[in-house]
Amino acid sequence: MTSKIFRSTLLVAAIVLLASLAIIVGVLYSYFSGVQVAQLQDELSLASSGAEQYGSDFLETVRGRRFRVTWVAADGKVLYDSLTDAETMENHADREEILEALETGTGSSARYSTTAMERTLYEAKRLSDGTVLRVSASQRSVGALLLGMFHPIFLVALIAIVLSALLARRIARRITEPLNRLDLEHPLGNDTYEELTPLLQRINRQHIQITMQMEALRRKADEFSQITENMQEGLVVLSSDGRILSINSTAKALFGAEDSCVGKSFFAVDPSQTLRDAVNAALDRGHGTARSTRNGREYQFDLSRIESDGVCIGAALLAFDITAALSAEKSRREFSANVSHELKTPLQSIIGSAELLENGMVKQEDTPRFVGHIRKEAARLVTLVEDIIRLSQLDEGAPMPTESVELLAMAREVAAVLETSAAEKQVRMEILGEPVTVQSVPRLVYEILYNLCDNAIKYNVPGGRVEITLTDRDGKATLCVADTGIGIPPEHRDRIFERFYRVDKSHSKQSGGTGLGLSIVKHAALALGAKVELQSVPNEGTTVTVSF
Ligand code: ADP
Repeated sequence: MTSKIFRSTLLVAAIVLLASLAIIVGVLYSYFSGVQVAQLQDELSLASSGAEQYGSDFLETVRGRRFRVTWVAADGKVLYDSLTDAETMENHADREEILEALETGTGSSARYSTTAMERTLYEAKRLSDGTVLRVSASQRSVGALLLGMFHPIFLVALIAIVLSALLARRIARRITEPLNRLDLEHPLGNDTYEELTPLLQRINRQHIQITMQMEALRRKADEFSQITENMQEGLVVLSSDGRILSINSTAKALFGAEDSCVGKSFFAVDPSQTLRDAVNAALDRGHGTARSTRNGREYQFDLSRIESDGVCIGAALLAFDITAALSAEKSRREFSANVSHELKTPLQSIIGSAELLENGMVKQEDTPRFVGHIRKEAARLVTLVEDIIRLSQLDEGAPMPTESVELLAMAREVAAVLETSAAEKQVRMEILGEPVTVQSVPRLVYEILYNLCDNAIKYNVPGGRVEITLTDRDGKATLCVADTGIGIPPEHRDRIFERFYRVDKSHSKQSGGTGLGLSIVKHAALALGAKVELQSVPNEGTTVTVSF
């Protein structure tokens, strides 16, 4: 900016200087030319009257340095010259001023000498005897004058350059200082020269626009981080060269990454080749998947390419925890295998007995035993199928209507149903406690009570006892089934709630167990939001408490 101002100032100064020079030189030159001509004419008239009276002797007396006097005869021959010997001079008949004077009485002319950069002014007058007297004087040309003024002009130009430089610096500082002091956060609050007002108004409009756009962007970024932070899935947004642009907390925990990982290469955070291949597949072909274990859990990674205007600008990685889904899948497969096995065994036994009866291979007196066996196995099958149906209903998790359930009455009902089997096992059943009413699903409460009491009888010892206790303390209803049976060894306690898990398979089958009773209890309690606790001491007994 300073140099621009300097150049402009210098140009103006140069133009002004040249114009002033041209005007001054032009005006002065023409003025002094006029003065010189007048002097010449005065000189000529003096010289001519002297020469008329006294001849060339007079001219000799007035000979001066400033003027040259030449006397020319009517035929052009030089009669006298104040500077040169007249004899040596050429004929002057062709000189413009001489010709003019011979013709009109007076003549004047001016001639340039380019070599001497001079102009010579001539004034001539015809004398009474027909001769012509001429006076001439030299005058310096404009070029010579200017050449003579070279030093002062050079000095003035130098001063103009220095002054222009100083002025340029000063003006530039004056212009830029207020600009540098501008508060661009509050453009209209600046107190500066008024030429800046339109600029400041424009900046203010743009400032408002930028603030609004920033606000909108911030809101969008907040929304994005709110959504991604609350996601169960891990989300990582990668740039096209594999750098992390954004990562949510689930993904940070999954990859063990710090907050500072943003901006770094994803492959430095997770160096596994499987994921590197999946990222590259997404960037190259649009989609990539991988499955791998992290922190003891199974994850499915889905990667998709992100494009803008058809150009790949990165990829989004979604990580799903599929541990539960895989284990459910495994349980389903095991359950199907178990169900087939559990159904097949009694059916084979029924078919075997029926074939023996059919082929007459059973003695008459043994027939009732075989038929009884077939009935018992068939009954077991029915119980098994019923248990499977119950479990699958619980698995479906369909909402069930709740109503008031009086636990004491229900316990009596269950005890009545199990009375025969208790008697067979020589087990005494007791119901203790007070009437307790809960808002629940009657069928599920019944399932819980039935299965717990059934087990307490099945796994009891002759002469043993089963106690059903119902309490309601601080609005918390509890039902407790305690027996004096064989108990459960500690190493089995975590697994007995699994489907078809039995501590002693033959004992369970002998007593008509399906291996699904406690699973039904667990799922029914889960559906009711109740808590099941089990305490057991081998050979002493087991206590199961359900808190509603
Ligand atoms: P089951 O039909 O075999 O009784 P459950 O799921 O009801 O199946 O019980 C699973 C296993 O837990 C039983 O096979 C048995 O070994 C053990 N068990 C359950 N309840 C008791 C109890 N009250 N006393 C001793 N063992 C029990």
